[in-house]
Amino acid sequence: MNDDKYKARMQRKKDHIDQRIKSASEERGILILLTGNGKGKSTSGFGNVCRAVGHGMRCVVAQFIKGQWDSGERNLLEPMPNVEFHVMATDFTWNTQDRTYDTLKARETWQAVLPALSSPDVDLVLLDELTYIVKLGYLPEEEVLEALQNRPAMQTVIITGRNAPQGFYDIADTISDIRSERHAFDQGIKARKGIDW
Ligand code: ATP
Ligand code: MG
Repeated sequence: MNDDKYKARMQRKKDHIDQRIKSASEERGILILLTGNGKGKSTSGFGNVCRAVGHGMRCVVAQFIKGQWDSGERNLLEPMPNVEFHVMATDFTWNTQDRTYDTLKARETWQAVLPALSSPDVDLVLLDELTYIVKLGYLPEEEVLEALQNRPAMQTVIITGRNAPQGFYDIADTISDIRSERHAFDQGIKARKGIDW
């Protein structure tokens, strides 16, 4: 491609991008759904929390399901003044095998994070592994959807977890369905500190 052709092509690209930037004029918080079987949902969610904290924004994180597990992201972010954590005080559901207990713990964490979902001072709420809480019936889907939809207009919420219920798809503004093409675990490689948790 010669220089003139390159210039013309980039000009067309610029016109197109400028037009798209102009038409995106609405300012409001969004609902982001990070789902699918591939690796990268929670790390993306926490990466976004880091991004927001880096701008001095207020973030609230709820960690469902795997709360009692060691977590590098929690070790890093919890001491920060702009970040608040609510951690579900239980093990994986397949370890506890106690439905009543898991339901109670899930609801406790949900109740703890609810005030953040109605506080305009909170810029970003990460609900890590929330999908399971609804899928497993610990919380009614309608109750969760209602809280998400009634949140302050400028607040962004990120939900992670596999098998998101249809209701989450229906109301999310941004959806990334992360597909697993390959995972080291399937080749017998152990989960690694700093990589997998
Ligand atoms: P990460 O926290 O690394 O971003 P994730 O949130 O996308 O992963 P989860 O379903 O929450 O994935 O599972 C968390 C753990 O399971 C991580 O240790 C991750 O590496 C591992 N994992 C993720 N996807 C797969 C997969 N397709 N097969 C096996 N293990 C996986
Ligand atoms: Mg995860």
